Amino acid sequence: MAKKEEKKAGKKEDAKMEKKSAAEEKTEVDRLREELLINRKNGFFSVTDEQLKEADEYCEGYKEFLDLCKTERECVAYAIEKAEKRGFRELDSNAVYRPGDKVYFNNRGKSIILAVIGKKGCREGVRISAAHIDSPRLDLKPYPLYESNDLALLKSHYYGGIKKYQWTAIPLAMHGRIVKKDGSFVDVRIGEEPGEPQFCVTDLLPHLGAEQMSKPLSKAIEGENLNILVGSRPVRTETGKGESLFKLNVMRLLNEKYGVTEEDLVSSEIEFVPAWHAQDMGFDRSMIGAYGHDDRVCAYPALTAILDCKTPEHTAITVLADKEEVGSEGNTGLNSSFLRYFVETLAQQDGVEARDVFTRSQCLSADVCAAYDPIYASAYEPANSCFLNNGVSVMKYTGSRGKSGTSDASAEFMAQVRNLLFQNDVLWQTGELGKVDAGGGGTVAMFIANLNVDVVDVGVPVLSMHAPLEVTAKLDIHMAYRGFKAFFETPIGK
Ligand code: MN
Ligand code: MN
Repeated sequence: MAKKEEKKAGKKEDAKMEKKSAAEEKTEVDRLREELLINRKNGFFSVTDEQLKEADEYCEGYKEFLDLCKTERECVAYAIEKAEKRGFRELDSNAVYRPGDKVYFNNRGKSIILAVIGKKGCREGVRISAAHIDSPRLDLKPYPLYESNDLALLKSHYYGGIKKYQWTAIPLAMHGRIVKKDGSFVDVRIGEEPGEPQFCVTDLLPHLGAEQMSKPLSKAIEGENLNILVGSRPVRTETGKGESLFKLNVMRLLNEKYGVTEEDLVSSEIEFVPAWHAQDMGFDRSMIGAYGHDDRVCAYPALTAILDCKTPEHTAITVLADKEEVGSEGNTGLNSSFLRYFVETLAQQDGVEARDVFTRSQCLSADVCAAYDPIYASAYEPANSCFLNNGVSVMKYTGSRGKSGTSDASAEFMAQVRNLLFQNDVLWQTGELGKVDAGGGGTVAMFIANLNVDVVDVGVPVLSMHAPLEVTAKLDIHMAYRGFKAFFETPIGK
């Protein structure tokens, strides 16, 4: 090798060394970054194709559940049917339960508790997953039916937090129960099957909407105007004249089909809900669009987790509650005592005090969270938001105006839950309900925490929450199932 060439080669060697040390330095920084910082990446990159396939398959069952169960009553009936097939029996306070026994308590057909008795019974506390099965909708007023200018309509009183403009000009289905004076009842479900009629709330045409369009969204559609169009033909008379003929024709049809009169509607619970069915969303079919994800997207995983639960260490409990959307008040909501009574019954069997059981218990309050929406970015704080496809969201607190109206989970319990999810390979994330002071909301967490239970909110991120069509990601839904199941089957903490 000539001298000149040697020199050249030496330079090359130096450059190589420099390059190498730069690479080493990068490795060290990478190592530090890996060890010390959170690496937030889309959940898609953290799961296998097999896991994606599993999630997609699991969601086929969920979509079926969504279509069958648009009201709390329908959810409870579904849960009982599935549970009985899996060996669950109605709670009997005189029975003696053994590990692996499966029981349920049906609270007035509108909320339900299901439990699998653990090896330790409830002596060292129970594990509770609590979701809700009521969703925002249009309920009927006690005297709903009226006619006006040759149209028959039903007056509604909305239930839960809705943006009223979203409920006009969409197809609605009628679900519910009408109870007659003698206590007999009929269940109503119109507008779901092909060929059945549907209903709607009309909206003003844009051509004449100048005044309406200049109002703020909250005022453009009044609550009193959410009246549902149900008919436009009168009862036929000789003269073509008569009182309330349009209203009468609707009642005539309802009477023919259900044997009810106008007064029977006073003792009814009729809910008008979007008539469309759950559908895959996106070219990649990665999401589901449907009515009532909040909170059936957590209720279904919590239900299937208890149905699939192998005999756990601590008694495992799934609660599907009513009335969350109106503050959990009422005897079928979680601010009532029905969960306490249920646990008291089990505690009695084990010869322990219910208060000691609760004090040692843990709960995942299974409710949805607001997924980050880039279109409305200004409502979110991106560093502390949850995102579609990043897994189940563990929310330390919800609430509004400085953490009011929430249960702020302890650091200790947060640690136990994140460890549980990590140990069981469950994709999870955390976040807040939007920006500080942007608004806020609550869940059932605080009502269960008030029984002196450790509680944290764990749920599925949702886009367009409370809209007639909400969107969730299939991967997150399956992760919720895996999370709840792991919570039941893996002893953590105390
Ligand atoms: Mn909810
Ligand atoms: Mn809600």
